[in-house]
Amino acid sequence: MTRKTYLTLLASLLLAACQPTTTPESQDLVVIEGATVIDGVSSTPIENAVIVIDGDTIQAIGSSGSVEVPPGAQSIDATGKTIIPGIFNLHAHVARTEGMESNDQFYNRERIQRDANRYLYYGITHMVSLGLDQEPMIGFLADQRAGRTGGARLYSAGYGFAAKDGWIPNNPNLNRPTTPDEARQLVQEFVQEKQPDVIKIWVDDRLGALPKLTPELYGAIIEEAHNQGIKVMAHMYYLEDTKELIRRGVDGLAHSVRDQEVDDEFLKLAKENGVTQVATLAGHSSRLAYADGPDFLDDSGLPVLFPAIVLETVSGQEYQENLANDPNLESAREVYATAAKNLAKVLAAGIPIAIGTDSGGPGRFQGLWEHREMELMVKAGLTPMQAIQAATANGAKFLGLENQYGTLEPGKIADLIILGADPLEDIRNTRNIDEVWMNGERVNRDELPISTAPPTAQERETS
Ligand SMILES: [Zn+2]
Repeated sequence: MTRKTYLTLLASLLLAACQPTTTPESQDLVVIEGATVIDGVSSTPIENAVIVIDGDTIQAIGSSGSVEVPPGAQSIDATGKTIIPGIFNLHAHVARTEGMESNDQFYNRERIQRDANRYLYYGITHMVSLGLDQEPMIGFLADQRAGRTGGARLYSAGYGFAAKDGWIPNNPNLNRPTTPDEARQLVQEFVQEKQPDVIKIWVDDRLGALPKLTPELYGAIIEEAHNQGIKVMAHMYYLEDTKELIRRGVDGLAHSVRDQEVDDEFLKLAKENGVTQVATLAGHSSRLAYADGPDFLDDSGLPVLFPAIVLETVSGQEYQENLANDPNLESAREVYATAAKNLAKVLAAGIPIAIGTDSGGPGRFQGLWEHREMELMVKAGLTPMQAIQAATANGAKFLGLENQYGTLEPGKIADLIILGADPLEDIRNTRNIDEVWMNGERVNRDELPISTAPPTAQERETS
C-alpha cells in the first residue's frame, strides 16, 4: 500500500467515524464547482455554485462559501459552464422509425433502447412515449426500472384510446370503445394487463374526415383512469373539445388548441382544473422548419445518432422543396401561429406548461426536438428561464416525480446537464452540451448504443 493510498484510506475511515449515520465512501462524493446553476426552482441562477453529490443524490447545493465541501470528495471544475436539470419530455414516440420510414412493424425492443439512448444523449432523462407502444415496451420498462438497462427513463401510455373507425385509421392496436360501460371496462383491463404510466386519448376528427371520441366515452375513460390512479393526456385540436375535456377532468393537453384563439372560459377552466399544457410546437413546426430552410442540421449530435441517409435526405433540396411546395403549407403556418399564440395566452394565465415534441418520426430528431421545443416556446413568449423550468420541474410534477427529479435541490437524484454556454442569453445554448449526468454519474454519451439491425423484408412489406 502506497503512502497516498494509506492516507486516503485513513481519511475515509476518519470521515466514516465522524458521521455515525449511513456514511458514504469518500470516493462516492463528487463536488461540481464554479458553474452557474439553474436549479429549476428559483428564477435566479446560483452563481459560482457548489453541488455536492453523494452517490446518486444531491447532498448540498449553493453558492461557493455557503456549502461545505466534504473532504476527500472528487472535485470537478465547471467554471464558465451552466448547469440545468435533466429534461422531461411528456409527448413523443419511440421505436416506430427506421431511416425515413415510420411503421408499426418496426417496433421492437432494440429500437426502444436505441431511442431511449438518443434522448439521453441530448440530456432528456425522462420521456413519455404517448400512445403507440406495443408489447416489447412492457419488458423494457421492467428491465429499466430494475436497473438492468439504461437510456432515458421511459414512461409509456401503451396503446391509446380513440373512436371506432376514428383517429389513426386502420390501426388495429388502439382501444376503441363504443359505449361508456365498455370504455370503463377497457380501461380496467388495459391498466391491469399493460400497466401504463399514463393514458392517452385522441379527440380529433382530422378536419371532419373521421369520427371523434364523444364526451360520454372520453368522460368514462377519464373517470375510470382516475379511479385507477392514472392521469390522462389528450391529443386534441378544437377549442370546444378541449373545454369539454377539461370539464371531464383531463390532466394534460398534449397539443395547443389550434382551430382558433383560446378564450377566457378556456383559460379559467384550465387554470381551475390544474391542467398542464404541453404545446408540442416542435412537432407542429416540423414540416414548416424544413420548408423554410432548417437551421438545426449542423447540430453535432445528429451524425452521431442518426443514419447518414436520413441527414442526406432531409438536407436535400428535393425534400425541402417538396415541403415548401405543399399546397397545405400556408394553412399549416396559420395553425402553427394559432398554437404559438395560444401558448402565450396560457402562459399569461399562469397555467402550468411542460414540454412535448412528437419527436420520433422521420426527420423529427429525438433529443434535438426537445431543445427546439424550448427555442420555439421562447419565440412564443416564454423567457428562457420559464422554458427551462417547463422542460424540467413542470414535467416532473406532471409525472408525480417531483420529490426525486426535475430540480437540483438537496435530496434529489443528480440528473443534470453541463452546458458550455449560457441558455439564459440564448436558449439555443441548451444544445451546447458538455456532459450529461444521470444518477450522479457522468453518462458516456459517445458510447450509448444506437445501432440496430436493419429492418427485415417482413417489417418493410407492411409499411
Ligand atoms: Zn404524438
